Amino acid sequence: MNSANFERKRMEAVLHRHGFRFQKKYGQNFLTDPAVLADIVEASGMTKDDFVLEIGPGMGTLTAQLAEAAGGVLAVEIDTKLIPILEEQLADRMNVELMQGDVMKLPLAEILEERAKGRPVRVVANLPYYITTPILMKLLEENIPYTSITVMVQKEVAERMTAGPGSKIYGALSLAVQYYTEPQIHFLLEPRAFFPPPKVESAVITLTRHGTPPVSVRDEKLLFALIRASFNQRRKTLANALANGAGLSLSKEEIAQKIVEQGHPATVRGEALSLEEFARLADGLVNENCR
Ligand code: SAM
Repeated sequence: MNSANFERKRMEAVLHRHGFRFQKKYGQNFLTDPAVLADIVEASGMTKDDFVLEIGPGMGTLTAQLAEAAGGVLAVEIDTKLIPILEEQLADRMNVELMQGDVMKLPLAEILEERAKGRPVRVVANLPYYITTPILMKLLEENIPYTSITVMVQKEVAERMTAGPGSKIYGALSLAVQYYTEPQIHFLLEPRAFFPPPKVESAVITLTRHGTPPVSVRDEKLLFALIRASFNQRRKTLANALANGAGLSLSKEEIAQKIVEQGHPATVRGEALSLEEFARLADGLVNENCR
């Protein structure tokens, strides 16, 4: 029996002993192959000087490897049924703190400030796929003091994060990820690497925080309001989408004029604009919008 099969049998036995039932609603697909777990830790660039936030430790297989590589680990798990299993599996890991809760509802910036004590924070997770984008947006937008985020996500989501203008999968997530970080896809993984297997292929991606964003913009909030409005109605022209949804106090004609002044055709769609072009448009609209 190879090490992946051996580990899977061991995990099944532990889960069975605890009478655990997988909860689909929590996106529970556990990783069983120790070599894959080691590859994720290596991709994260973790050292003993780092502190880790792990989202969704499951039964703690990745957590154990993170505890070996990092100075300290905070693992946040929503499923109360997994807490006794995690406590048992991680009993000898003195540098791991378990927290039961919904990561979307926790004040992560505050919690990490307190736990990390000035050490660089790396987020590492095999994310629950039902809630990947909201978790990533929370990490990116809430002033959380991370240096990098290394996550297992659905392959298509990883591709959206790295997509550029003109592509069908380019959108608000691509722009937010690329504004705050440098994304790099490390490797892909087939469903059979998980237990139970998900219906989709997966990818491991690292988002490394930029020292300063690659574009400057006068009003970041307006930039992201424009981006959101453009992609909420992505089949509409940019002028129509912004007139309907960006919270701008400008008429469609005034917005269209600004778009043309920036060198775009009046009928351009948001999906054609680069991050730099969205930033210039936001700067062009910022004064007008305040009038
Ligand atoms: N890390 C484990 C592994 O790799 O085997 C489990 C990964 S599994 C894909 C996702 C985990 O996230 C599950 O343990 C699930 O219960 C947990 N989870 C789901 N939603 C969550 C939330 N909102 N907050 C915290 N944990 C969550």
